[in-house]
Amino acid sequence: MTKTKTNEGIDSSVSFENSKTINEEESTPIDLLEKTTSSLDQIEDENLRKGFNSFGFSKGLLNTLEKKGYKEPTPIQKAAIPELLLGRDLLGQAQTGTGKTAAFALPLLERINSQERNPQVLVLTPTRELAMQVAESFKAYAEGHPNTNILALYGGSDFRSQVYTLKRGVDIIVGTPGRVMDHIRQGTLIQESLQCLVLDEADEMLRMGFIDDIEWILEQIPNERQMVFFSATMPSEIRHLSKRYLKDPAEITIKSRKKEAKLIKQKYIIIQNSYKLEVLKRVLELSSGEGVIIFARTKAITLKLAESLEASSHNVAVLNGDVPQNLRERTVERLRQGGIDILVATDVAARGLDVERIGLVINYDMPFDSEAYVHRIGRTGRAGRSGDAILFISPREKSYLRNLERAVGQAIDRMDIPSNESINKHRIAKFKKDLLEKASTKNGTKEESDLLEILISEIENELELKPKDIALAALNLAIGDSSLLIKGDESWINQAERYNKSGDRREIRGRNRRRPDTDSNPNDKDKERFRVEVGHRDRVKPGNIVGAIANESGLNGRMIGRIQIFEDHSLVDLPKGMPNNIFNGLKKVKVMNKELNINRYK
Ligand code: AMP
Repeated sequence: MTKTKTNEGIDSSVSFENSKTINEEESTPIDLLEKTTSSLDQIEDENLRKGFNSFGFSKGLLNTLEKKGYKEPTPIQKAAIPELLLGRDLLGQAQTGTGKTAAFALPLLERINSQERNPQVLVLTPTRELAMQVAESFKAYAEGHPNTNILALYGGSDFRSQVYTLKRGVDIIVGTPGRVMDHIRQGTLIQESLQCLVLDEADEMLRMGFIDDIEWILEQIPNERQMVFFSATMPSEIRHLSKRYLKDPAEITIKSRKKEAKLIKQKYIIIQNSYKLEVLKRVLELSSGEGVIIFARTKAITLKLAESLEASSHNVAVLNGDVPQNLRERTVERLRQGGIDILVATDVAARGLDVERIGLVINYDMPFDSEAYVHRIGRTGRAGRSGDAILFISPREKSYLRNLERAVGQAIDRMDIPSNESINKHRIAKFKKDLLEKASTKNGTKEESDLLEILISEIENELELKPKDIALAALNLAIGDSSLLIKGDESWINQAERYNKSGDRREIRGRNRRRPDTDSNPNDKDKERFRVEVGHRDRVKPGNIVGAIANESGLNGRMIGRIQIFEDHSLVDLPKGMPNNIFNGLKKVKVMNKELNINRYK
């Protein structure tokens, strides 16, 4: 029995938490250690007993950790910290939420030489948000290291102030590849002094097209250095990269709940608030008849939903912080036995709930964070069964989808709002199935079925009805007052679908990605877009193109607009009205040993 302080202000004992599945939260940390180096195994037991003390950390760091309330190292920390303290290279597979930032930040902080003025540690992250977050973590952990300077370097923030800070002396840099490259090129980031490089979320960097930039940076780092790669997944490109750059690395893999999540088909619908309830009812229409849990953000919403669903003849109960413990247990038992089909719950109330019969989890409201999402969807797909999870997202929230996908390590696909046609198909199929089941199972006593047969022949004779007419009448009786088919106005669906379709993958990811804008019109109306025949495969960088064009045309570098590099070509925005002689001259200019062969991009 677990005592949980709920965020609903109630101290609730969640006694139905009897999950047997081993996952990050419920297991002992050691269960999660899939593979690590043998030398670590001996240290493990000691670590378990002594928490952070056994790593030999400085008093300052131990105090900081105590203040932060860190009692036990997480599995990734247990495995990685001793290796990193020894200066060893490391390839770690671990997701966000496993404590991986501290796993590299703590040992690196301890190894910093605060007398050195130039940067010693460089951490590369795929996004500026992560760069800020990791830099903040470093700063928090460095409270007991007063002379350690940490700087986040990312695009979109003032370059000159970054240069100024770098000049004053920085020990640890956390940055995104583009901005780090700019500083290395400008000589404002002295890379020769770097002793350690960390690639955080390496797979994400790959997905975002940073692989060339990463390799360029890796090539600039001195040979004698420590390199650490962390990745949530381990695609072959990361393996190749690690083979090329890591020297005899320790390899650590942390099992996560993602394996469970793989059994769960996850979908989303982007929907405005005003249509949510109607869409919920439609989604429920299509559910397979197994148990359903609907997650709502507040107690008030759970009540409102349950009322509406009850009014639509659903068999529903509420589980929230106001429901007394004994009633909660009874409710869960009824769900387990099929006495109720739908549970509308808040996160805290449904934590740890383990009912095999749950085939569908509906996130009516967006979860507070990815952790909560993983918990929620884990209520289905229990005991190795498959399950479905559907997420309702408001148009404003759609950018969070990517975080959730990363937390579960798989794609969440868009789902259409169920139309009248699909609901009707489902209703008819179900009606047929129910009829078939009734026809093939005998229920009631022999006397009763004899009586029904007599009734049929009496009706046949008295009312002169054919068996088909009697069957039709019986079907109508079974359908009752409601109609078999849904016929309501569905014009709103088309409107709502426009939002929903706007969530298609490319659009959502585009926010974080340097998505090429292949429109032939540049944003700047004074510029024209041109195509040049050098691209990634020639290892060209924007600086090469700028340099070549500026030299040949005499244009000031600042007048050269946006440059987008593709596999075999690039697009560049140049001032309108380029004289012919310059244009022809540019055609012959070579970059990376290839002629630009510049042309207007149509
Ligand atoms: P991360 O995986 O680095 O994003 O960390 C996830 C969260 O776990 C962060 O909020 C950390 O502050 C927290 N955390 C990391 N290590 C520990 C620990 N040993 N004990 C408690 N919390 C931790």
